[in-house]
Amino acid sequence: MAVLTDYHFHTELSHDSVAPYYDMVMAEYNAGVRRLCTTDHCDVIHWQTREFLPECRTLARRELEAYQAVRDRLPPDLELRMGMELAELFHYPELTEELTSPPWLDYILGSAHVTMEFGDYSLADYADPSQRERIYDIYLRDLQRAADLNYFDAMAHIGYIRRYAMRAGVDMGLTLARHGERIEHLLRTIIQNGRGIEINCSGLRDGCGPFPSEEILRLYKSLGGEIVTIGSDAHRPQDAAKCLARGQEVLKACGFRYIAAFTKHKPSFIPI
Ligand SMILES: [Zn+2]
Ligand SMILES: [Zn+2]
Repeated sequence: MAVLTDYHFHTELSHDSVAPYYDMVMAEYNAGVRRLCTTDHCDVIHWQTREFLPECRTLARRELEAYQAVRDRLPPDLELRMGMELAELFHYPELTEELTSPPWLDYILGSAHVTMEFGDYSLADYADPSQRERIYDIYLRDLQRAADLNYFDAMAHIGYIRRYAMRAGVDMGLTLARHGERIEHLLRTIIQNGRGIEINCSGLRDGCGPFPSEEILRLYKSLGGEIVTIGSDAHRPQDAAKCLARGQEVLKACGFRYIAAFTKHKPSFIPI
């Protein structure tokens, strides 16, 4: 079985997963993953009310406790890192140091999930053409804010809101034809800051394609982007490691030869 790397998955420490931590880690291991990093949600604002969530200040500690509780039962050939998926931090930039500095964290995935305008991206009205452009406008604005704050090791699932558009019957994603200038600016910011992006394979599971799309991955490569992590974004044991092998094929087709893993926020490169 090929050795896989998964730098994006969730456990019961996330509000949208009920999978016990140990079960989820072992599901990843049994699916062939040997380099694994936890990325439970550290949400700074609530997905509906948009109010500050004080629990974000305890996630790193809870992550450490969950790891320590299972450490002795982990397979010796599993490299398990600790990370978090930290979203909407740019609304509270004064918390950056506090949330990102716990010394046991190896990896921070930066995300945009929720907007002050309409809450979680799944709640926006993609069926309304006038709203649709606005949603993408807001999404790119918030990704740029996250990139400018420069608090993460890799930016998560660029373009994933295509999933919600498709659920509303509209096939609309980020494209260079419509959003090229802003996407290029975003990628240049990430590269100049020495950060990376992830290829999120959850869209390969449900027919939405990789996040980001191949044309955005190719643009990132052509701009000099080298750091790419890979993640299944599994929230359930049955999705553990799903489509990681396909994601690696997508990366190869886009000219990448390595995926990144992180130790204390320093990337190392694994040939694919
Ligand atoms: Zn996410
Ligand atoms: Zn996630």
